[in-house]
This record gives sequence, C-alpha cells and structure tokens, in this order.
Amino acid sequence: MLHIRCWGIYLWAFPASACGLILALPLLLLGGKVNWVTGVLEVCAPRYCAQWVRHFGAITFGHVVIARDVEQMVALREHERVHVRQYARWGVLFFPLYIGSSCWQLLRGRRFYRDNCFEREAYGDARKAPLKR
Ligand SMILES: [Zn+2]
Repeated sequence: MLHIRCWGIYLWAFPASACGLILALPLLLLGGKVNWVTGVLEVCAPRYCAQWVRHFGAITFGHVVIARDVEQMVALREHERVHVRQYARWGVLFFPLYIGSSCWQLLRGRRFYRDNCFEREAYGDARKAPLKR
C-alpha cells in the first residue's frame, strides 16, 4: 500500500504523467507492452514500430516512461528514473524548466540536449547509482 506522501508525489507529477499516458495510448493500441516497475509505468513500443524511431531511445513524462523497445527500456532505465525523480521534485514545472535549461545552454553556445542541467544530472546519477529492483 502506498504511503500518503507517495500519493502526493504521484499527484504532483500527474499532469506530466497524463501527457505520457496520452502519448503511450497509441503504442498500446498497436500492441506495445506495459509494465509497472518500481512505481513507474513502463511502455515499450511494439517491435515493428522500433524501425520508425531509430534515433529515439526512451522518454519520461512524470511516472510514465516510453521506450522504443524492451532493450532500450532496460538500457535506459536508470537514466529515466533520474527524470522520474526530477518530475517528483518539480511536477509539471519540469516542462518549462527543462526547455528553459536547454535554451539557456543554446544561448551560451552549448548543446541543447547534452548540456541541459537535467540531462547532465540524469547521465551522472544513472552511472553512480544502479537501480535496485
Ligand atoms: Zn534524459
């Protein structure tokens, strides 16, 4: 049973999770797979869809992670869990903060994605702390 604090975190991040659910729905209708892993809904696109999105690995919206396929989900799980924790911290504010960080990096002549402060944290933390299952 989830503790009341956990429900608050899910509620706080729910607007972002709802976006993830909306984006995941077509994948599920096409035969994607869904799993509930360590408090996160993981949605994997069906294998035949993976060829359409070769440059995409996974993306997190609140407590929903959408991956190109099962292999990408496993490979990127720890990285995406850092984003889940970021959503738990920032809620729906994560969207403008993420874009703002990327724009700030561009203005400074840096990379939009890789120098984003949320991505730097995710890449760093995912290496430091393996996910416990
Ligand atoms: Zn990331």
